[in-house]
Amino acid sequence: MTVPKLWEVRGTKNISDSVYSARIPFRIPAGEGRFMERFVNTFMTVDRGVCLIDAGVAGSTGSILGMVRDTGREPGEVSALVLTHSHPDHIGGARAIQKATDCIVAAHQAERAWIEDTALQARERPIPGFSTLVEGPVQIDRLLADGDRIQIGGDRSLGVIHTPGHSPGSISLFLEDEGVLISGDALPVKGAIPVYDDPVASVRSIERLEGLAGVKILLSSWDSPKKGEEIKMALANGKEVIRALQAAVAKAVRKGPDLSDVTRRVVETLELPETALPVISRTVAGHLRAMDRRPP
Ligand SMILES: [Zn+2]
Repeated sequence: MTVPKLWEVRGTKNISDSVYSARIPFRIPAGEGRFMERFVNTFMTVDRGVCLIDAGVAGSTGSILGMVRDTGREPGEVSALVLTHSHPDHIGGARAIQKATDCIVAAHQAERAWIEDTALQARERPIPGFSTLVEGPVQIDRLLADGDRIQIGGDRSLGVIHTPGHSPGSISLFLEDEGVLISGDALPVKGAIPVYDDPVASVRSIERLEGLAGVKILLSSWDSPKKGEEIKMALANGKEVIRALQAAVAKAVRKGPDLSDVTRRVVETLELPETALPVISRTVAGHLRAMDRRPP
């Protein structure tokens, strides 16, 4: 009998020599006692220091600090929590993690307002169950920009790549020496509900990731790790998801421009679940804005 490794028991996955991941399941209320089952992956680099990437939802702290302990390290060794962007399933546990580890919190400038003022985010992007997913605001200690480096130990560092579209300050992180690219939510996943603010910026960001040399493993918050040829496929599929939605919106808007009507028609055309409606309407609005920007 094979004895499973500790991290497999706990759900911590060893991705490469220094990168680990933990999968956090959660539910979004979808009305009348129904729920949308979701999950999000959080990541960690382990070298001389420990760096956490994303904080999951409220209540994820046990799983995330469990991932730290599974590798024989202590929560006190966590030096930084890097947030790929401000959405609830990425910042929900940030406050508790910051308290438990006394780490610095880093995120892109364009995500600052929604991380430091979660009530503002709940007003401006009111997703169902927001208050159950987010523990509260957290202060950002380091503002990140494209091209920045985050030290993970010795002379090793993560490169910051600004990949807007999903949100204005979404970032991807690249550990060049192991070829590990963490794309956060920058890449729409085939079969999942497409969520992004700006389809044009999203495609541009995916194309930028396609142009990166030396990517051996692609880690997305919503998908399983991709290797080799699967990486090209996942990036191409991300663009395909956006193109399909663009076509569905273009068709739906011919019958009338009302956002909720267009969204309903799009959900029907793409055969998405009804529970997708509140989440996808923002994505559809992004497509409508992008269409207005085009010359007649
Ligand atoms: Zn997101």
